[in-house]
Amino acid sequence: MSMIEMKDVVKKYDNGTTALRGVSIRIEPGEFAYIVGPSGAGKSTLLNLLGGMDKATSGSIIIGEDNIAKFNDNELTRYRAHDVGFIFQFYNIMPTLTVEENVNLIKDVTNTSKDAKEVLKSVGISRHADKFPQELSGGEQQRVSIARAIMKNPKVLLCDEPTGALDSKTSVEILKLLREQSDQDTTVIIVTHNALIANIANRVIKIKNGKVESNEFNKHPMKIDEVKW
Ligand code: ADP
Repeated sequence: MSMIEMKDVVKKYDNGTTALRGVSIRIEPGEFAYIVGPSGAGKSTLLNLLGGMDKATSGSIIIGEDNIAKFNDNELTRYRAHDVGFIFQFYNIMPTLTVEENVNLIKDVTNTSKDAKEVLKSVGISRHADKFPQELSGGEQQRVSIARAIMKNPKVLLCDEPTGALDSKTSVEILKLLREQSDQDTTVIIVTHNALIANIANRVIKIKNGKVESNEFNKHPMKIDEVKW
C-alpha cells in the first residue's frame, strides 16, 4: 500500500482561481520526493492539502489508511498534530523560548513525542539546547525546526523551501539531515528551487499549471556527497 495517494485532486480557491486541476500521484513510504515546477504551478497548494492545512475541492487524499480529504476540522487538527511535520524557509520557531523549549512545545499537541535531548542530539545541536534562536546561525535554527518536526515521529515531513535562506554549504547539511529522515521511514516531500535535489530524490514530480507534468521514480539516487552543489 502506498503511503500517499492523491486521486483527481482539484483545488479551487474562493476567488475563483483553480490551483490544482485533477492531480493524481502516489508516493511510497520512506521516499524522498521532490516537487518542482514554475512559480504559481500549485506546489504550495499541494503541500497545504497534504499537510491538512487546507481542504481539497474534490478528489481523495489517502495518507496511510485515511482519506484526509473527507476529514472534518477536528480530524484535520489531530492529523496535523500527530502525523505531519512541517519545515519552512524561515524556521517558524519561537524567539522567546530556548531551543529545547521550542522542541518540547510539540508535547502540547501530541502525547507520542520522542525525548527532546535525544532528538537535539540526532540533529547535531544538543550543545545549543539552552540558547535562544537569535544566538544561533540560520542553519542551526533550521535544525531546531527539523528537531521539532521529527519529535512526533511524523508519517510525512513536508518541506517548503527549507534551504531558501541558507548558504550552499549549510543547505547541503540540511538536505543531508532531511534525506536521513526518509532513510528512517518517514516520507519526505520537498519543494525547492534547488534543482540539484533531483539527483538525490527517489521521485521527481513536475507540476505545471495545476497538473502533474511528469512523475519519475529514480531507482539509483546519488548520495549527497556525490553531488557537486
Ligand atoms: P506555487 O507554490 O507553485 O508557486 P501556489 O500553490 O502558491 O503555486 O499557487 C497556485 C495558484 O493558486 C496561483 O495562481 C496562486 O495565485 C493561487 N493561489 C495560491 N494561494 C491562494 C489563495 N489562498 N487564494 C487564492 N489564490 C491562491
